[in-house]
Amino acid sequence: MPSMRSAEPAQEVERLLKRFGVNAPAVPVDRIARGLGAQLRFSPLDAELSGMIYVKGDTPIIGINSLHHPNRQRFSIAHEVGHLVLHRPRISGKVHVDKEFRVQLATLNRDATSALGSDRIEIEANQFAAELLMPTTWFVQALASKHFDIDNESPLDEIARKFRVSRQALDFRIRNLAAST
Ligand SMILES: [Zn+2]
Repeated sequence: MPSMRSAEPAQEVERLLKRFGVNAPAVPVDRIARGLGAQLRFSPLDAELSGMIYVKGDTPIIGINSLHHPNRQRFSIAHEVGHLVLHRPRISGKVHVDKEFRVQLATLNRDATSALGSDRIEIEANQFAAELLMPTTWFVQALASKHFDIDNESPLDEIARKFRVSRQALDFRIRNLAAST
């Protein structure tokens, strides 16, 4: 299937981190979104809505559900930044709304080769978001520096705190890392 991407998410993320001088976690996704010219708007939305993006003229407007946990808001911002970086022509001129179930579904189906176009951009935005919040090099280092014990979950909680992500997002990232190596 032809790709509209100019580069892999990991390369795009590396470029962004360098451009915005980010040298360690937690990645300031709000600062990066604003640095890319986006306006961030936090407002209470229906529980199943995580975020949305709308490119009005030259100004991308990102809406985030302020009722969600801050770590989920960070993932939503990172997801919308992914759309901005990877899919700008496709999302321009209309409001793109992200619902929680859709994000989860897209993440779970990331290996499905028959994914429809709309699912595909959600999968790409989620992969981008996971990479932006947990850049491979830092994440692998963080995992390697911990001693893991099957009865002790706390090292993973510690890493989640360090990167300011939910345990769910961290678990997905680990699963995807394992799948790609
Ligand atoms: Zn989306």
